[in-house]
Amino acid sequence: MNFINTQDESDNQNITATILKNLPKESGLTKIEYEGPFISLYTINPKFLMETSKILTNMVNLVKKRIVIRTDESIRKSHKETLSIINRHYDSKNIKSIFFDDSLGEITIYINNLNKLINGESQILDLVVETGWKIKIRKSSQVMSSIQFINNTLKEATDYRIAFYKKVGENIFRARLNNIYEASLIALGGCGEIGRSCFLLVTNESKILLDCGINLQENRALHHFPRMDITGFNPEEIDGIILSHAHMDHTGFLPYLFKYGYRGPVYCTEPTLPLMTMLFLDYHKNHGLYSDQDIKNVIIHTIPLNLGDVTDIAPDIKLVFYNSGHVLGSSSIHMHIGNGDHNIVYTGDLKFGKTYLLDNASWNFPRVETLIIEGTFGIKDSPHKREESDPLIIESINKTIRSGGKVLIPVPIIGLAQELIYTLNQNQDTGKLDLANIYIDNTILEGCTIYEMYKDYLSYNLKNSDTSNLFNYHNIKPIPSKSKINKPSIILAPSSMFLGGTSLKVLKQISNNPTDKILFLSYQSQGTMGKEIQIGSKEIVINGKKVEIKCEIDSIHGFSNHSDYNQTLAYVSRLKPKLKRVLVSHGEKNKVQNLAVSINKILNIQSQYLLVPEATKLL
Ligand SMILES: [Zn+2]
Repeated sequence: MNFINTQDESDNQNITATILKNLPKESGLTKIEYEGPFISLYTINPKFLMETSKILTNMVNLVKKRIVIRTDESIRKSHKETLSIINRHYDSKNIKSIFFDDSLGEITIYINNLNKLINGESQILDLVVETGWKIKIRKSSQVMSSIQFINNTLKEATDYRIAFYKKVGENIFRARLNNIYEASLIALGGCGEIGRSCFLLVTNESKILLDCGINLQENRALHHFPRMDITGFNPEEIDGIILSHAHMDHTGFLPYLFKYGYRGPVYCTEPTLPLMTMLFLDYHKNHGLYSDQDIKNVIIHTIPLNLGDVTDIAPDIKLVFYNSGHVLGSSSIHMHIGNGDHNIVYTGDLKFGKTYLLDNASWNFPRVETLIIEGTFGIKDSPHKREESDPLIIESINKTIRSGGKVLIPVPIIGLAQELIYTLNQNQDTGKLDLANIYIDNTILEGCTIYEMYKDYLSYNLKNSDTSNLFNYHNIKPIPSKSKINKPSIILAPSSMFLGGTSLKVLKQISNNPTDKILFLSYQSQGTMGKEIQIGSKEIVINGKKVEIKCEIDSIHGFSNHSDYNQTLAYVSRLKPKLKRVLVSHGEKNKVQNLAVSINKILNIQSQYLLVPEATKLL
């Protein structure tokens, strides 16, 4: 990609002057700061700016930058005074915890029952005026350990984060070095394979990483990690990392990057931070390959953004996250390079088909020239229609629990697990699925609570309805760590391909019993134990011990939170205006190859599949 532009729009002094000129005196402005990707307006009269949101919208349109309002430090009451004001406004029994973010001047109040809050918005504004702090309200949950870990980490790093935000702001809002625009993309992982998704986007001004995953199915370092070594660049040269979603094959390398010295910003949607933190802590507990401090460094350097907000992340790159329909907070990454000279969309993992919990992936981008799309299901085999798969799943589970058996469904911690619990609940409510306890792993339970906490990211129908009992915890039980699981029952446990974790422990309990069943709903990669069992192996080896498989095995396609072949083609053909090229990643070689050929032939768009470069071995 190569293009030239002679227009220069990066006169940042003009931004400050424009803001000062257009803000009325009542706004109580005390200072303007570049903080991370935001231009922060500090005010002693936050009520005025928050109530007259039109002023802010006009300002954003004028300067074309992300603007946030912050309260001036001078009006912020002490923590103690603030707590007593909050307790006057809200029933203290309805408050689970309160987090003060001193570096941003924001408070998050975790509320047990949001339905008990009356006058939501106006009550918040009153609280802002009285306390001098910005206020966020979130639903609390029964499991808050990752949220607590994040909040404690942010608290410990208050001074560092103030300096970090300033440093990032200076880098983003600096003048451009030149007006010649070039952009190249280097695949470092997750191409011609699933796992370790990672791309390096290089422009004349910036180096940006898109995703930063590990391949959990591979232990060999050369295949486990993205191939940073091939490009020979140093982590310190990266200006920013953008994450599409929380899954480890898109994020798992982050703690390592911080271990090796990266100290720049990480951009992701709001729910992605707690979800990935939970996965890192779980992985760290089981594998111990990086330290708690490495995970803390990820948290300190992460700048969460809302879907749809246009945000400068470099002097020449604007970023917008769009819903990709795959898991909570999953996004397609839209990057606008230069003065609109080139627009790239990296879909991340994509579901172009409706699910209960999430909306269909967004496709209505203003401009896209280059599309990088996933090709997990790049071959036309089994269509992914929920109308077809759901009744088959219910029938399969009913058959086993009616004969008094247990059904083990190995699932990833986030995404498919929550969608499945919701679906099973719905079917139990309507009587289609027989009543039985649903046993789940603790990490899945925590995932459920994060779904409830970030309601804004759920489907349109759900976010406009009462979701206080989204997962109906009535029939849900934790998988007992010592005792056996009662029959009949349904068990949801990670990992989805039996690479470790609770599913492997439960497998040992049920594998020998012909009345029990393993039901596969998610993708099984070649070479994994999951695939071995799925294709009919009667004997497997767990930790050096032979285990016989006598239980029933069933696989049902169509429940996946990835698009199938038809959905992927429908998505590409929907994109307007016309694409220049489509690059296919994230899929086994024959699948990405087939998808690229199909896009060329059927949609008449230049398309190719990407591969991770291999170094020529000399020794
Ligand atoms: Zn994913």
